[in-house]
Amino acid sequence: MDRTFSIIKPDATKRNLTGAINKIIEDNDIKIIAQKRIKLSKEKAEGFYDVHKDKPFFSDLIEYMTSGPVVIQILTSDNAVKKYRDVMGSTNPENADEGTIRKAYGLNIQENSVHGSDSEENAKKEIEYFFNEEEIVG
Ligand code: ATP
Ligand code: MG
Repeated sequence: MDRTFSIIKPDATKRNLTGAINKIIEDNDIKIIAQKRIKLSKEKAEGFYDVHKDKPFFSDLIEYMTSGPVVIQILTSDNAVKKYRDVMGSTNPENADEGTIRKAYGLNIQENSVHGSDSEENAKKEIEYFFNEEEIVG
């Protein structure tokens, strides 16, 4: 089984959608093997989205990601990175396929309800950025 890293973003936690999103994850045969509800600090959010630091939307993205609690998760399944990207849907909810999380709950290209790692290498890095090995019960 491989792992990916997920965030249920502030727009979703504010609307009480953690359980609804977890249901879509589990209905797609993906297992949630670790989960914490936290508030991201500005520094932690900036470190996480460092690849986007030169993008015009970066400061808005950090403000949004620190605007309320997030739920961070480790997910496992066969082909977890690709599988969860498919379950999430396109970055812009308007372009997301029927049945995806972003189609069901995303509000706009920024407030798109969930994050999922985009490569196995990044999944490993992102998991290590937020979790200790003792917190993971596989
Ligand atoms: P994520 O990394 O959160 O899983 P993603 O890989 O689909 O999303 P990225 O291109 O990595 O998309 O963008 C990171 C996040 O930045 C997006 O999920 C969204 O919240 C925000 N974002 C991306 N593009 C824009 C944009 N053009 N305007 C505003 N916010 C954006
Ligand atoms: Mg991304």
